[in-house]
Amino acid sequence: MGRFDSLLAAQNRKLDLEGALIARDRVGIQDFVLLDAYTSETAFLDNLKKRFTGDLIYTYIGTLLVSVNPYKELDIYNKKQMDIYMGVNFFELPPHIYALADNAYHTMLSEANNHFILISGESGAGKTEASKKILQYYAVSCPSSAILDTVRDRMLMSNPVLEAFGNAKTLKNDNSSRFGKYMDIQFDPQGDAVGGHILSYLLEKSRVVHQNHGERNFHVFYQLIEGGEEDLLRQLGLDKNCQHYKYLAQGEYSTVSAINDKNDWKTMRNALSVIDFDKADIEHLFGIIASVLHLGNVHFEGDSKGSATLLGHAELRWVSKLLSVNVQVLQEALTFRKIEAKTDEVLSPFTVDHAIYARDALAKAIYGRTFNWLVNRINQSLENQVWRPCSILRKNVIGLLDIYGFEVFHVNSFEQFCINYCNEKLQQLFIQLTLKAEQEEYEAEGIGWEPVQFFNNKIICDLVEEKHRGVIAVLDEECLRPGDATDLTFLGKLEEKMGHHPHFVTHMLADKSTRRTLERGDFRLLHYAGEVTYCVVGFIDKNNDLLYRNIKEVMHHSKNSIVRQCFQSTESESRRRPETVATQFKNSLLKLTEILMSKEAWYVRCLKSNDSKKPGHFDDMLVRHQVKYLGLMEHLRVRRAGFAYRRRFDVFLQRYKPLCPATWPHWRGPAAEGVEKLAQHLGYKPDEYKMGRTKIFIRHPRTLFATEDAYEICK
Ligand code: ADP
Ligand code: MG
Repeated sequence: MGRFDSLLAAQNRKLDLEGALIARDRVGIQDFVLLDAYTSETAFLDNLKKRFTGDLIYTYIGTLLVSVNPYKELDIYNKKQMDIYMGVNFFELPPHIYALADNAYHTMLSEANNHFILISGESGAGKTEASKKILQYYAVSCPSSAILDTVRDRMLMSNPVLEAFGNAKTLKNDNSSRFGKYMDIQFDPQGDAVGGHILSYLLEKSRVVHQNHGERNFHVFYQLIEGGEEDLLRQLGLDKNCQHYKYLAQGEYSTVSAINDKNDWKTMRNALSVIDFDKADIEHLFGIIASVLHLGNVHFEGDSKGSATLLGHAELRWVSKLLSVNVQVLQEALTFRKIEAKTDEVLSPFTVDHAIYARDALAKAIYGRTFNWLVNRINQSLENQVWRPCSILRKNVIGLLDIYGFEVFHVNSFEQFCINYCNEKLQQLFIQLTLKAEQEEYEAEGIGWEPVQFFNNKIICDLVEEKHRGVIAVLDEECLRPGDATDLTFLGKLEEKMGHHPHFVTHMLADKSTRRTLERGDFRLLHYAGEVTYCVVGFIDKNNDLLYRNIKEVMHHSKNSIVRQCFQSTESESRRRPETVATQFKNSLLKLTEILMSKEAWYVRCLKSNDSKKPGHFDDMLVRHQVKYLGLMEHLRVRRAGFAYRRRFDVFLQRYKPLCPATWPHWRGPAAEGVEKLAQHLGYKPDEYKMGRTKIFIRHPRTLFATEDAYEICK
């Protein structure tokens, strides 16, 4: 190299170094673990905000990804970006959801084990978007063959279908998931996606018959009315005005600027074809959607004896036509209750309130069961055709968990209670797994572990779910008690049993200052994410979720094949008292926890940048609150306890080997020895680093920064 060249090179290096330093400053630090003032919440938020302002919405805490919802389209989700992240070392590139997806994928392949990605955060924080991006990454980046293309397409297309039926506009999010979703993606040993399976959790059925002001029913209803072809609507007896349907008109928000129902209809229709729904399935499915709308317009009036008589015979005829059930029998089931006497059955007329209750219960049951049918049907189409006989291949699975986020409205009901309980459980799992994982890593690497203080929310999980004593047990007990159980007697029992639990408050137990903000029919739980006041009205009914037996029988005899499958339970089953909704949910969460505990975890923690869906706006208070309750500072402390940074020997060596003559250009011995040579050459002090069994652990970020700077210069 001539003198001039070397001068130029030196200058360039200087520029590189400055560039690197400036870049680090301008965009903040991309891994919180390397933050000097790592115990300071303010420093944490500053870093997050700095990056957010530069459109860098992702930051790591070690291998955990923090994501802040930008509420605007960023040009970072395309094929080019996917290619950049494919197979590259996690920390070599700016943080990205693709990096996490890719790392999980490659670890799964190299270690031949199962993983899951837990995506959490409150409603509207970006969980569903994140899960879609991960799925897209796998669909586009993994190798594939023609037959597997079909599986991939179906996996992708399951999203618009399930979102149409399971998402709705709420006050928090225009596209809020009203069900929990866990999706396993099955890979073969070469890394091709060969199949998938979805588990769904507790759909918020009550939305079918009631929406709060400013909210909507499930998207699919509006899609059908706005996008449905004229012929189809005629066959279904529908007209093109959402306001004509009681079940759609209550929220007074049939159109939303951010949603294009017409286009979404087309997407959903196309998705149904890709997933291989046949003509009859589709016809029956839309028949069911339309029947629910007609059912909502059936109403009742009281006769002189106070018994309900049906108004809206035309609507009822449509319901019976679309569900293929006998109209008289249906009418009878909506206005009379069948009571079994000793040898006979007696019909007892409903009051108007009862009839309305029966009608709404039917609408919810039809919709809820059809949703489950839909998930099963999608699962059939995603079944692993290639490897089914070899069960050992169950080893290569990545699960994606996108479940409704913590939710606090002005009035919170049974649904919020279930949703927030679910979030408690996931937080508990997170605490157990991260602490455990960290501790295990230290032990596995032969490095001493010091316990870290953290808030354990187990106490709140117990408060809700404990056998015989938890809120759910008390609720079930009231639901099963014959006689005069009401929402208020339930509240009374809670007051009695919860005593002075530190996370439970009712009007009776509240002190003067909180009593003013707590109504008589309310109770308050102090969740890990903040306090939520629940109004007990409807708890008993929603938990019982009763459907009168004669209504079930009518549906059982339907000629609509989906309806028939949905109501096919046998007579003896229907006589047995079914599990309550809360208990079913609790059990399904227990099973989910078991599934997750058996896999390796990756985390995406989504934060909401502001409450008004404003692009690029960072609300300090709101973000600070989420950082607090998601336990991000604690997680960071755990990651920093002892050693801030750790890398596998080979990865560390690969990056920094140019810094030491002994390792450059090749190190032929064991990686650990190469790393030791490097560390000595770089002048690491003995207490500044530790050699584990497979990784080097570095205590302070500044040591790493110095090494990184040296690397930048010599690059
Ligand atoms: P959650 O599932 O957590 O309730 P969503 O994933 O539905 O929230 O996100 C709510 C809205 O926020 C989306 O409809 C979208 O407008 C916006 N959003 C979320 N994540 C992103 C992202 N990465 N980039 C751009 N916009 C996003
Ligand atoms: Mg969602």
